[in-house]
Amino acid sequence: MKRILSLVLIAAMLFGGFGCSTITEPEAAYHTGLSFSELEPSGKRVSLEIARAKELLFRIERGELSGDRAQAMLDAAEETYQALQTDASIAYIRYCRDVTDRENKSAYDDLASGIEALGCILVDAALLLKADPALRERYDAKTVDSLLREDALSDPAILPLIERERDLVGAYEALPERLIVERHGRRWTGDEILSDPTLSPEDFAALYEQYQDPFNREAGALYLALIRVRRQIAETLGFKSYAEYRYDCIGRSYTPADAAQLSEHVRDAFAPVLSQTAAPFYRAAGVLCNRTYACGSAMRGIRTAIAETLPELSEPWTYMTGHGMFDLGTDPKRMPGSFTVYLADYGAPFLFSSWTNGFDMPPTVIHEFGHYASFYLRGSGTETEDALDLAEIDAQGLELLTVMRYDTIYGAVSDAAETAELFYALYALLDGCAEDAFQQYAYAQEEPTVEALNAEYERLIGEYGLDRFGAEARSWTQIPHTFQSPFYYISYAAGMLTALELYVISKSDPDAAKEAYRAILTRTDGGLLRILKQAGLNDPFDPEHMRNLARELERIQSKEETDGRNGTQNDR
Ligand SMILES: [Zn+2]
Repeated sequence: MKRILSLVLIAAMLFGGFGCSTITEPEAAYHTGLSFSELEPSGKRVSLEIARAKELLFRIERGELSGDRAQAMLDAAEETYQALQTDASIAYIRYCRDVTDRENKSAYDDLASGIEALGCILVDAALLLKADPALRERYDAKTVDSLLREDALSDPAILPLIERERDLVGAYEALPERLIVERHGRRWTGDEILSDPTLSPEDFAALYEQYQDPFNREAGALYLALIRVRRQIAETLGFKSYAEYRYDCIGRSYTPADAAQLSEHVRDAFAPVLSQTAAPFYRAAGVLCNRTYACGSAMRGIRTAIAETLPELSEPWTYMTGHGMFDLGTDPKRMPGSFTVYLADYGAPFLFSSWTNGFDMPPTVIHEFGHYASFYLRGSGTETEDALDLAEIDAQGLELLTVMRYDTIYGAVSDAAETAELFYALYALLDGCAEDAFQQYAYAQEEPTVEALNAEYERLIGEYGLDRFGAEARSWTQIPHTFQSPFYYISYAAGMLTALELYVISKSDPDAAKEAYRAILTRTDGGLLRILKQAGLNDPFDPEHMRNLARELERIQSKEETDGRNGTQNDR
């Protein structure tokens, strides 16, 4: 039985397919072997399928259809639903390749809206059939429970609100091409500022600074509108707060209050370690910046690093590269950021990122490939709980384990690359918490204003020790997740605590770290704490464990400092 969840379809950057999206049960992972260029739309029309589903629901309600026949028709409708979802994911990838192309955008929007409406009808139909005595075996307690949960998160009454939400997100995504600043008699869009190679560093800095204020104002105004519409969604469905609704959508086993507590413990234990890592990071970055990291050679290095760390991941890598199931283009019209999405009808994931020649590109691709490998091996997954946190362990865990073979990617500067990676990992951990705290604040305010949000953000990044590294009061408007995938960020923190634990273990026992990672990657069900326990790892929420982990990281950091590593070697 496939699970149906309507609502937000493919909102998640960095990790497509979650948020309130459909999670279909895997028919073990199969792969059609088609290349991305060969993928065709299903040819199904969403409006027609909605009409058919309504007719099906109507006939079940009136008792004209029941038992196996009704169930077979519902199963067929669910197949169609999955095909339309795959169509929508492909439309989304096309839109991300050029966010200025309105045709791609509206193709995606139409599919996404239609699929949400279709999902609501199919959940209602399944809820009627569960009462059918002939189908008792089909609707066991677990299935009914998950249907009821889906029903609590969806209602036709919120569909217009979700459409409004999607329009506001689209307006945010269009800002860099729409917003114009003037300097020395010339007009610039944000996209032009970022992509003009002739700009001197001084002109770039001046223009970018000039662009920040209007961007913050306009994106901030869109965010206030998003807060209003999202709170209405939560209220309509009877939730106490938008944060609680959203945590339920994501399927977390912990509450926003638990996350707030986690954040405070993370702040206390890890902000000092981040600060200690700063000076080595800057030295390392100085060494790493002397090189460019061309896509072709970096990808060969990444392939070797992954194959030598976890040989079983060579197969998904070969599938991805052999079938063109990735896109690392460089056009400035692309959606910023990276994501991986599962195309269920083709049994194949797709990886999207934008290559910049920067030293941070290899870990970005390795992160996304952790998601890719998980989708490839497990299909969409069966988790009913904490799927997003576990998915981030797939990604961040692989990032921190491949550090062991950074020599294949970074050669003589691999120690510097490891120092940089550890810094980024700690930054992601603290930022994951700070962004969640910020969003919890934003959605809880009676009358939020952009100024108040800027002030709170400034306070939080100071508290979490992020203000030393370029983040400032206006930076929150530059984070796409805040607009596109609300309350995603805490999963980066929850996942990173485990990824850092794997990193610490790998320092003394690489095989044990790999085994623990494998146990997570091949999970068959969810529940973060249960899976971690089975893998022999600690409860990431335990403050005592956090303090130990922070101490271990400090020790590794100081040892590397005294060994004269951390970017002090020459780039030969
Ligand atoms: Zn991720």
